[in-house]
Amino acid sequence: MSSKVIEFFQYLPNSLFPHLQMSALNATGHVTETLASSPLYQSTNLSQMSLIESWWARYYAYIGDPLIATALLIFLNHEIVYFGRSLPFCIMDTMPYFRKWKIQPTKIPTVKAQWDVAMHMLFCHFTMELPLIGGFHPLCVYLGLATHELPFPTWTKIAWQIALFFVIEDTVHYWMHRWLHTPKLYKMIHKVHHEFPAPFGLVAEYAHPLEVLILGAGTIGGPIVFCAITHDLHLFTVLVWMTLRLFQAVSAHSGYDFPWSMHNWFPLWAGAEHHDYHHMAFVNNFSSSFRHWDYFFGTDTKYHAYKARLRAAKNQAERQRLQKVEDQKAEAEGIVAANETCAKA
Ligand SMILES: [Zn+2]
Ligand SMILES: [Zn+2]
Repeated sequence: MSSKVIEFFQYLPNSLFPHLQMSALNATGHVTETLASSPLYQSTNLSQMSLIESWWARYYAYIGDPLIATALLIFLNHEIVYFGRSLPFCIMDTMPYFRKWKIQPTKIPTVKAQWDVAMHMLFCHFTMELPLIGGFHPLCVYLGLATHELPFPTWTKIAWQIALFFVIEDTVHYWMHRWLHTPKLYKMIHKVHHEFPAPFGLVAEYAHPLEVLILGAGTIGGPIVFCAITHDLHLFTVLVWMTLRLFQAVSAHSGYDFPWSMHNWFPLWAGAEHHDYHHMAFVNNFSSSFRHWDYFFGTDTKYHAYKARLRAAKNQAERQRLQKVEDQKAEAEGIVAANETCAKA
């Protein structure tokens, strides 16, 4: 085995590749000793690491440069979660069995539309997002955000910090999204995201580059401001937060409302059923994760009236007929509202 291959296997988790790990250990010594010899971990107690912490340390020690390791980790995490979370919905769209949970069941996205959006997103991620992520580690160092450092925060701390980021993001999203619906900004920026009145998972980030920056500020701004104030945040928490936020965004655009969807057991949660109406009717429902801002500021009245009319249906057949009529009406009004907004710009 060449020394380069042995060096790589040194950093693999023992539990996953015990045989390969053993041969690497026999040839070059103990992994913990190797980690301890890394300049990144010389002053770290490595004897009490959890499995995830040991993967984290081995990854950072293997890459060697924290700037490259951090950028690569954030980018790969984003690509895997975004496309990985969207894929099941793409598959469901090809299977009639899942139509009963489709919010706008007559509007199934074509494979071509999904492919075009996926390619567009890949292009944007590589040309716009990757360079921005490259600057993230220097910002982390400046703000005092822990990256390669161990141990991780406790799960309790991770949970309350992420809950806080959800509330901050939702608030920023609500106001920025309403701002993007003002005539000039809608015509110039937000119109791109409204290209699909019946959205699908991959549409979550399909937007004008300026919108990605404006609404992305809600996702990344919370952790940045929090870290600047408290100096108590770990990159691992930020990665878990970004993963959950992507799950929320892709699910909200999926076009599917299942009996087990989160808003059915946590009524404050917005979910696909809430955001789908925004795409269909153009007006109402500006929030991302929760429903309270739309409720407090009366930007969900049309949505509630629409739901009430659907609830009046006596049976499933009546409900389907009513929904078809209501959806056509809501979409037609939405097109008029969008055109009027553009005309005012
Ligand atoms: Zn909008
Ligand atoms: Zn949307």
